[in-house]
Amino acid sequence: MSKHFDAIIIGTGQAGPPLAKRLVAAGMTVAIIERHKFGGTCVNTGCIPTKTLVASAYAAHVARRGAEYGFNVNGDVRVDMKRVKARKDEISGRSNKGVEEQLRGLRNCTVVEGHARFQSSRTVVVNDDVLEADKIFINVGGRASVPPLKGIDEVSFLTNSSMMDVDFLPPHLIIVGGSYVGLEFAQMYRRFGSEVTIIEMGPRLIGREDEDVSATVRDILEKEGIRVLVNAKCISLAKHDGRTAVGVKCDDGPPEVLGSHVLLAVGRTPNTNDLGLDRAGVATDQRGYILVDDQLQTNVVGIWALGDCNGRGAFTHTAYNDYEIVADNLLNGGHRRVSDRIQAYALFTDPPLGRCGMTDSEIRKSGRAALVAKYPMSRVSRAFEKGETQGLMKICVDAETKQILGAAILGTGGDEVIHVLLDVMYAKAPYTLVQRAMHIHPTVAEYLPTVLSKLEPLA
Ligand SMILES: Cc1cc2nc3c(=O)[nH]c(=O)nc-3n(C[C@H](O)[C@H](O)[C@H](O)COP(=O)(O)OP(=O)(O)OC[C@H]3O[C@@H](n4cnc5c(N)ncnc54)[C@H](O)[C@@H]3O)c2cc1C
Repeated sequence: MSKHFDAIIIGTGQAGPPLAKRLVAAGMTVAIIERHKFGGTCVNTGCIPTKTLVASAYAAHVARRGAEYGFNVNGDVRVDMKRVKARKDEISGRSNKGVEEQLRGLRNCTVVEGHARFQSSRTVVVNDDVLEADKIFINVGGRASVPPLKGIDEVSFLTNSSMMDVDFLPPHLIIVGGSYVGLEFAQMYRRFGSEVTIIEMGPRLIGREDEDVSATVRDILEKEGIRVLVNAKCISLAKHDGRTAVGVKCDDGPPEVLGSHVLLAVGRTPNTNDLGLDRAGVATDQRGYILVDDQLQTNVVGIWALGDCNGRGAFTHTAYNDYEIVADNLLNGGHRRVSDRIQAYALFTDPPLGRCGMTDSEIRKSGRAALVAKYPMSRVSRAFEKGETQGLMKICVDAETKQILGAAILGTGGDEVIHVLLDVMYAKAPYTLVQRAMHIHPTVAEYLPTVLSKLEPLA
């Protein structure tokens, strides 16, 4: 006997719980299934715990710079990793509990714990129960990719998930992968007191960003004593006298790095291989991402895929926006689409990088005439008042429409300031709107009009 619901939601990440709330408010009965921790990646092993750790690392960093700000710290600043982890656990645990309590408190929402597998396009099996619904929403997220590197089975390694259990200071942390996740861990562990080496296969860090942005981030990290090795074409792992040896074969470095711990931060894999998608007839691409249309409907009528598992975003805000699109279209007769949203994200190093829209290279590829303006953070008064002058601001605009095409704010407050430009992009207003606005002094945002006064043709 199967249990019937109006809707089934698989996964309690960033889209599933708010969707459950909206569906029951609209009078539906909902079953929501979670196999591990309520709240998914962001709450338990992603955004919340890492930004909590970044905050601890930042505090330690500022304390070490005490003399610059006019105060003394008696003795060395030493990080107590057990307390750092306890703070992180407390903050992330609160969110995890909050998600669970909210779901359990919803009328007409049945919370089921266990691994969900499709039995057909309308039925899902969890434990020994068969659940049935005409509408099924997949929100299963992803996990750290573990590529078949040579020697991978012979050594123990960490991922973003197992890093959450670390309550000690790794003497030398080697991070394989110089992208967003890897860089955040690199800087925080360096600031906690570890020796840190980043090994990146590509020619530069955060390879999706423009070269100037990528080079400035590298410079910032190297100034803190982080070693960066790029062009590591043949990464291999081996045990070596109780330590881990990572073979790199870089153009510009030694052939092997010896460290105490290795963190793999080389991308994400969608949690779709053990979902029985074939039984439901749901199509995926070669990497396992569920294929969806612009309104997040899969190829099977009545089944939607939201969040990281659809490959249309890799962030909490994209997963949440997926929920908003599906809920509005389903319940309010909306016509919202994924293609309406503008790319936006941040790298939460210190200083952070706020990004929106296209990069220079994407603009060049698009073939349109554009203007670009760049400005160093060292000339921003709020930055030098705070003693945080590293980074740059860059804005690109369309030469004809005068609309903003993209921006990078790598500097103190960059993760917040970027929203000024993002919202003007959503408004499809010309950049002159920002240029003529009166901003508050002293802020980083007050310099946006100044930056825009430097526009010149994008070469
Ligand atoms: C280290 C790190 C830092 C990050 N920092 C940021 C950041 O600062 N800002 C940002 O926007 N994004 C960040 N992200 C990305 C962000 O965490 C994800 O994009 C977001 O959590 C995706 O949400 P989701 O709803 O798609 O899936 P998830 O949050 O991954 O949730 C999926 C849920 O589904 C469950 N599940 C999977 N399969 C099944 C099954 N078969 N049956 C039942 N349940 C199942 C899982 O257990 C999980 O709870 C970070 C990611 C990492 C790894």
